[in-house]
Amino acid sequence: MSNTHYSDAEIADALEACAREPVHIPGAIQPMGCLVSLDADMGRIRQVSANIEDFLGISVADALASEARDVLGDELMDLLDTERVKKDNSASVLTVTAQGDVQGKQRRYHVVAYPSGDAFVMELEYQMCLDGHHLLDKMNDWLVEVGQLDDIDTLLDTLTRRVQEWTGHERVMVYRFDEDWNGRVVAETCLPVAESFLDHYFPASDIPSQVRRLYDINRVRSIPDALAPAVPLVPTCGPEKASPLDMSRGVLRAVAPIHQEYLTNMGVGASLSIAMHEEGKLWGLLACHGLEPRPLEADLRDALCALVQIAMQRMMVLRTRADTRLLHGIHDSNKILSDERGRLLGPEGLIQAHGTQWLELLDASGIALVTGNESSGQGTLPSEENLVAMADWLSRHQHHKSSWHTQALAKTPLAPWQEGDLCGLLAVALPTETTHWLMLFRREQRHSRCWAGKPEDTPMIRNGQLVMTPRRSFTQWRDEVRGRSRAWRTIECRAIGDLAKNLAVLTSSHEISQLNEKLHQANRQLKRLAYHDGLTDTWNRRHMEQAFDAELNAAERHYRPFAVLLFDIDHFKRFNDTFGHDAGDQVLVTLCSVLQSILRCTDKLGRWGGEEFLVLARDCNLEGGLRLAERLRQSAEALDLGKLGGVTISIGVAGWRRGDSRKSLVIRADQAMYQAKKRGRNQVEAEMASIISTPT
Ligand code: GH3
Ligand code: MG
Ligand code: MG
Repeated sequence: MSNTHYSDAEIADALEACAREPVHIPGAIQPMGCLVSLDADMGRIRQVSANIEDFLGISVADALASEARDVLGDELMDLLDTERVKKDNSASVLTVTAQGDVQGKQRRYHVVAYPSGDAFVMELEYQMCLDGHHLLDKMNDWLVEVGQLDDIDTLLDTLTRRVQEWTGHERVMVYRFDEDWNGRVVAETCLPVAESFLDHYFPASDIPSQVRRLYDINRVRSIPDALAPAVPLVPTCGPEKASPLDMSRGVLRAVAPIHQEYLTNMGVGASLSIAMHEEGKLWGLLACHGLEPRPLEADLRDALCALVQIAMQRMMVLRTRADTRLLHGIHDSNKILSDERGRLLGPEGLIQAHGTQWLELLDASGIALVTGNESSGQGTLPSEENLVAMADWLSRHQHHKSSWHTQALAKTPLAPWQEGDLCGLLAVALPTETTHWLMLFRREQRHSRCWAGKPEDTPMIRNGQLVMTPRRSFTQWRDEVRGRSRAWRTIECRAIGDLAKNLAVLTSSHEISQLNEKLHQANRQLKRLAYHDGLTDTWNRRHMEQAFDAELNAAERHYRPFAVLLFDIDHFKRFNDTFGHDAGDQVLVTLCSVLQSILRCTDKLGRWGGEEFLVLARDCNLEGGLRLAERLRQSAEALDLGKLGGVTISIGVAGWRRGDSRKSLVIRADQAMYQAKKRGRNQVEAEMASIISTPT
């Protein structure tokens, strides 16, 4: 072995060569059974394992020269025929009584049969005298027990305990893969004679990719004796073809030398691994270690596979339950939001009102809704400036995706805007507006990992070539995981997606309600402008004429008299000429507001034209009109306009008479007003030209 340092490229090449190691075609089997490979038509035997005589009592040479039926017997051949009809690529497990063993005795065999290339392969093991009922009882007990376990950790612990009881292995572990395919021992039952690996990490290279792929095809790998010499196939390759026999689906495949070395280095004499799949993806392994070789009956091996399968199904149920709780939480929260729609909180209000609850549900430390250049949030968050920058980057680069997440912001293009230990981000674009993002942050989850040996492959020179060898040391080694948050689970991404959808609807309805409010305001404004004079806010001429006609109608029909007061500001031109037009405007505004305050609500004040105004006084005869006019005149006269001085008005009053029209009444009032002007202004004049009052 050499300790020279190798370049990354050299190591990468060696690793790749290691990943290519053809573990599925070793050309040999383990000695716990024998192998017979048949032609595609199942007539002739193509290959046998060198130990066939120990199992079937026929020599290698005789077997290769015989018809398959003569060697394997009718029962097995008939069963195989039906199996072959299935034509799928899976392996079948059969139990048969074959011709006879070495002593010519009838023996039961456990047969694993599978197609491989254009051959059909059978792997035969003796069926031990296991009590099938006993196994079934144990399996039933397991089913009942598993059904009562409500927590995944307990489930996995129990699984290792039961497997240990069933097989006797000194160490039984559940080994879970992380996203980099490193394995962590998450549950273990370990006898005192063996070293515990609980919570230890095993590097991804311990189970290379081609081995992981094998677990997708064949869930079980049993090595009852790690160092047992392999039994070669005869001939090593099929007779006509040079391609070696693919034994991926079988159970007898010989152990690769590199794996033998690995097991020896770990002090393991027997090993059994059963793949644990979650939704079709390799989730972990049930790994059993025996310190010494430990035979494992084929039926028990099958039962253990079922045991693990049942545990995995229970795990799925428990996980689904937890997921459902999360989704219910989000759903409840969405329902509350929908119910609140009437209150129409803006994005800010929504996050303030519900942010804490969402943070709890999703186990995050900060939540922010970034809308363009603004953000609202709860919890621990980066500054608004950095939030906006992140949302901007996401909008430009991730707009096609509905969600984006990372555990380690520092390793992403968003690194420049990361703050403190907020290194986990889950961001979802609001479906209505791709520049608006709902963001959840998680803090760093710093932890140390205890590796079962240093997680690096050991390069060494073999036959002049750089190769990877299995680790020699399993002594503990620690490393620190930094800059990473807890991972975002798919279900959490889904939940936050649902939340974002609802938020989008709510923020949109909030925007719509705000626009509606503006529209209402504009409408109210328009209406005012249609009826009111823009400067003085008294009624405009058109509105006044309508009101006038209504009064005339009411007067005619119900004899409800009214008076018309027409007044004009005296020498108004002087304000304009002396103080400017704006000052003149101000006089109009002030005067109107004062006079308006004197009127009853049934009286109407309107601008008739220029600085001339008309008052309609309801339920009022001429005398009443004159009294009102006098009050108006006095109020005008009493008005102090500061540097503008004072203001006076001249008022003509006419009382309604039956048969009057708008025109006739206005003419009479106008004549009276003219009269008041003529008589010196600041006066009230009745239509009959009688002067009611004069200035004192
Ligand atoms: P009299 O006592 O005879 O009514 O004299 P007067 O100056 O009030 O009458 P005149 O008709 O000569 O002038 C009225 C002026 O009022 C003319 C016009 O420019 C001005 N005026 C009319 N409407 C407005 C307005 O809305 N704002 C201002 N600042 N001036 C107005
Ligand atoms: Mg005037
Ligand atoms: Mg005038």
